[in-house]
Amino acid sequence: MKSRAHRFKENAAASLANPVLQANLRTAKGKFVDKRAIAIKELDDFEATREAAKDIRNRVLEHLDLWLEKFEEVACARGAKVLWAKDGEEVCRLVVEIGKQHGVKKAVKSKSMLSEEAGLNQALEAAGIRPVETDLGEYILQINDNEPPSHIIAPVVHKSLDEVADLFAKTHKTPRKTDIPALTREAREVLREHFLSAEMGISGGNFLIAETGSVALVTNEGNGRMVTTLPRVHVVITGIEKVIPTLEDLATLMRLLPRSATGQSISNYVSLLTGVKAAGESDGPEHLYFILVDSGRAGLVGSEFQDMLRCIRCGACMNHCPVYQTIGGQAYGWGYPGPMGSVLTPLYTGLENALDLPHAATLCNQCGVVCPVKIPLPDLLRRLREKQLENHLRPWFERMALKAWAWVAERPSLYALATRFGVRYLAWLAGGQKSIPLLGIAPGWTQGRDFPAPEGKTFRELYRARSR
Ligand code: SF4
Repeated sequence: MKSRAHRFKENAAASLANPVLQANLRTAKGKFVDKRAIAIKELDDFEATREAAKDIRNRVLEHLDLWLEKFEEVACARGAKVLWAKDGEEVCRLVVEIGKQHGVKKAVKSKSMLSEEAGLNQALEAAGIRPVETDLGEYILQINDNEPPSHIIAPVVHKSLDEVADLFAKTHKTPRKTDIPALTREAREVLREHFLSAEMGISGGNFLIAETGSVALVTNEGNGRMVTTLPRVHVVITGIEKVIPTLEDLATLMRLLPRSATGQSISNYVSLLTGVKAAGESDGPEHLYFILVDSGRAGLVGSEFQDMLRCIRCGACMNHCPVYQTIGGQAYGWGYPGPMGSVLTPLYTGLENALDLPHAATLCNQCGVVCPVKIPLPDLLRRLREKQLENHLRPWFERMALKAWAWVAERPSLYALATRFGVRYLAWLAGGQKSIPLLGIAPGWTQGRDFPAPEGKTFRELYRARSR
């Protein structure tokens, strides 16, 4: 699958050189971080809940096929149809077929990462079905020339109020306003028309509950309920890893998801949708389809990257990532930014299509510390780097340099000698300054920053002096 992820360095450089984006990122920085910190303090048993959530997700992954079969059986017994898609292309084909079968001209959409992954909007448009995004952030991006999102739960976090005000005035042909309630009211008025006239609603799903055949939707806007209950056809598109066994498991995961995502103890809307509209019921779809998507997920089961399938898409890892905070999400080039994207994008689109992403991290482990389901993101990033080397996907000089480094590192006396010499040489280069402006041997690394000058002694020398 093609993505812009292979142009990460160019994208990141453009983000760094964009003063408007940089100002917007500075404004957004820390908001989610602070709110999460407060929200998790409310839980006495936060660490135990994380452990329980990790176990739930691992339990599912051990028998993923059985839980999916169980989900299919129960969902079908409640009137839904379960379809399986091996990739994004198949997702598009199935949704277009469903649309044609039911005479759909317009589809309203609630947030769905998988439809981003699949490029569904383009496929719908090509088939004569108008897709209308109804999540406020996604709507803003859609009317801004289908701009890609920059965050998995706050897709327009990179935009300022002024930018949105200009966009609304231009698109809706209304007087410009910067009052947030007035802007949201305006969007609501436009979207209400679409909710009432669309024949099909398309949503993602935060979790699929095997014991009830339900999909759980966790949102902060009422659009999710409109999308899933007003149109006569509802299509849920979600990855196969989203299944969980029971409602009790959902309760455990819900203690973590909103807190980790937005710092809320509970999201504004938590909907459990089960089956089609029954006789005598006033709302709900007449036709309910689940499209369960593989797109590389099944291949991760049992692999060294299986842990990644525990992800519950909370976004905490990107909110805490210094790289994400500096360049924003669009630079990552695909729907999934930040550390989780740097793992998922190469795994789903191919190592060779996202060569720089596993390196777009300082390995500071902030992401690993905050992940509610304890995914060891830095370890996975490191493993991806190793895979690149094994598959000869890194430049020859980098491979040689690492081999040389490993050879020296395996010989302690040589290592001590080499580091002593290196440190002395760099200190001499610095000439008493705190940093070395141009290192020469690593131009890429030093292009945007200075190399800190060593203090003059190696760690071993300092340690030995201290223990005397
Ligand atoms: S990897 Fe962890 S922190 Fe990141 S989005 Fe997934 S669950 Fe949240």
